[in-house]
Amino acid sequence: MDTGFFAPLLTGYEWQLSLYAAVGIAAVTLIGKYLVLLIPAFRAEHARNAAMRRSKMTKPHYAQNQRWNRRWGPVFLIAIFVGVLPFCLTAGSQPWWQMLLDIAAILLVYDFFYYLVHRFLFHDGGLLGGPLMWVHAVHHRQHNPCRQDSSYIHPIEVALGLGLYAGTIFGLSRVLGDFHVVTVVLTWVAFSQINLHNHDLWETDRFPFRYLATMSRMHHNHHARFTGGNFATITLLYDWLFGTLDHGHGYGKTKVAIRARSDASGIKKPPAEAGG
Ligand SMILES: [Zn+2]
Ligand SMILES: [Zn+2]
Repeated sequence: MDTGFFAPLLTGYEWQLSLYAAVGIAAVTLIGKYLVLLIPAFRAEHARNAAMRRSKMTKPHYAQNQRWNRRWGPVFLIAIFVGVLPFCLTAGSQPWWQMLLDIAAILLVYDFFYYLVHRFLFHDGGLLGGPLMWVHAVHHRQHNPCRQDSSYIHPIEVALGLGLYAGTIFGLSRVLGDFHVVTVVLTWVAFSQINLHNHDLWETDRFPFRYLATMSRMHHNHHARFTGGNFATITLLYDWLFGTLDHGHGYGKTKVAIRARSDASGIKKPPAEAGG
């Protein structure tokens, strides 16, 4: 077989850098968790979510879904670290601001495409009629999620979400050039921690935790009803731009009806019963 065609591709195959990225992500996650839990507010929120997780894990269908994802998750991760990241990484020195710009670019571009997939494929947000609502309905069985519910999800949705994320890194690396290993490590940790945090049962709503409280509350508004807004996951930028911000009363056409019903029954917030 003529290897000439593959040679240029394989010379850019940096499997060692992909391995360093995987180790770096695990290390930053573990060290970050240790440091964050030194802060009392984070410890309290962590305890609240751990208690809810323990209670939900006693339900067989819940434990079954978590087992399902522990089985499939590693398959998708290996596919990304073997099949995608080795083509996108460099260890060449870069200025710190370059890394910050790259982190912002990856997260913002990913969030834009995730917004579209979430709104138009996972929900009936207009145009396409929500062809994958049956997949996403699994995640929405949790009406008042806790941190663990970030992974209470259909494996097809895990594959699509991670595929979109890896695809964003690959696509942008073709345009912007290879990303530094440190960039990919920090972006990955930010991506997963933001997704986890959105599901946190979070009560600390004072400086300097206000932003964290807002992000958790907004994603809980999304979970409270399947017709809710707040489709983006990294920031609220695209929901603000496209008019789908949901402060607890839905968005667009459903907003008026939900607000009228809530006001009539004296409900200020979406119901906060445990989902599942
Ligand atoms: Zn949703
Ligand atoms: Zn969610």
